[in-house]
Amino acid sequence: MQSFTYNALPGRVIFGHGTLAQLADEVRTLRCSRVLVLSTPNQVTAANMVADLLGELYAGSFHDAAMHTPVEVTAAALKIVSELQADCIVAIGGGSTIGLGKAIALHTDLPQIVIPTTYAGSEATPIIGQTEQGLKTTQRTHKVLPEVILYDVSLTTTLPVSMTVTSGMNAIAHAVEALYSKDANPVISLLAEQGIEAIAKAIPVLYADPENIEARSQALFGAWACGTCLGAVGMSLHHKICHTLGGSFDMPHAETHTVILPHAVAYNKDAAPEAIARVAKALGVDDAAAGLYDLAAKHGAPTRLETLGMTADDVRRAVDIACSAPYWNPRPIEPEAITTLLTNAFNGTRP
Ligand code: NAD
Repeated sequence: MQSFTYNALPGRVIFGHGTLAQLADEVRTLRCSRVLVLSTPNQVTAANMVADLLGELYAGSFHDAAMHTPVEVTAAALKIVSELQADCIVAIGGGSTIGLGKAIALHTDLPQIVIPTTYAGSEATPIIGQTEQGLKTTQRTHKVLPEVILYDVSLTTTLPVSMTVTSGMNAIAHAVEALYSKDANPVISLLAEQGIEAIAKAIPVLYADPENIEARSQALFGAWACGTCLGAVGMSLHHKICHTLGGSFDMPHAETHTVILPHAVAYNKDAAPEAIARVAKALGVDDAAAGLYDLAAKHGAPTRLETLGMTADDVRRAVDIACSAPYWNPRPIEPEAITTLLTNAFNGTRP
């Protein structure tokens, strides 16, 4: 066996149905009593439900979380934290809301209880991405790692089908890059296979029956597994490209991951044959890149960057940005091959 180093992250995970009822006890265990509840404008109803459950522990809410954690939104939320003298953050929602909670923790060190309602996986990582004047930067710091993750499967049945598929593909992307990471290790690789398999099996069921609780459970478990992979080992080409497209072209997060992933896998296929074979096995297909493309295409997800609003000119700029800063990838970063990758993703060519 190859030698490896594995850094386990601390954290408490509660997973099940109706687990939201445990929230107040979790706040008390953290010895907190003034909770600020975070959400996006789309999830005010869910945030209000959380506020009701908190009772006397509830101090106030902030409902303006936005994608890619813009620093202005964080500044507005920090003002509320200080006005309310909040001592705990409860974030209910997807990566955008959880990102805001992390940004508040970065500035204040307040404890976070996060209640994920998508499959993005941010809850399990010590990573924070923030956007300032159109530029997205990320950092890893234990300061932003949530203290408690409360997964309540019943909160995920409202996730629209389109977002269910793309958010699931986003999760799979973390596990795929974990398998060929330069920090890959046996524990995380096992979790990666489990996460890919769980989500790939759940997507077709949820596409036909979005309220299927067993499939929702599988998908949410898969999200935790894949998010844990993202938090534990370094990512490469796929995440770098998606980060470029999100930060500099304001492309939607989960959809962009969905379109790029099959092409990133095709790019790395010959450089990481064992890892890609494990991806194919977990998906239950012969060819991982084509299998990922089909998983998206068969379930109504976008397969072309053009339909996400990108132009041919943007592709040229994206190649420059994606090739500008050096980073590790199983296959070296070759500008010509990256141009082909992005052109195929732009046109939606099946790899
Ligand atoms: P999102 O959080 O922006 O959610 C998309 C929309 O769906 C929002 O309006 C949200 O309120 C709504 N929504 C979420 N769950 C719902 C539900 N169950 N029912 C109905 N509506 C629901 O999308 P996302 O893809 O989860 O997160 C994307 C963001 O997360 C990006 O900014 C990305 O950079 C970040 N992210 C960060 C990490 C990390 O480790 N730091 C990891 C993954 C994603």
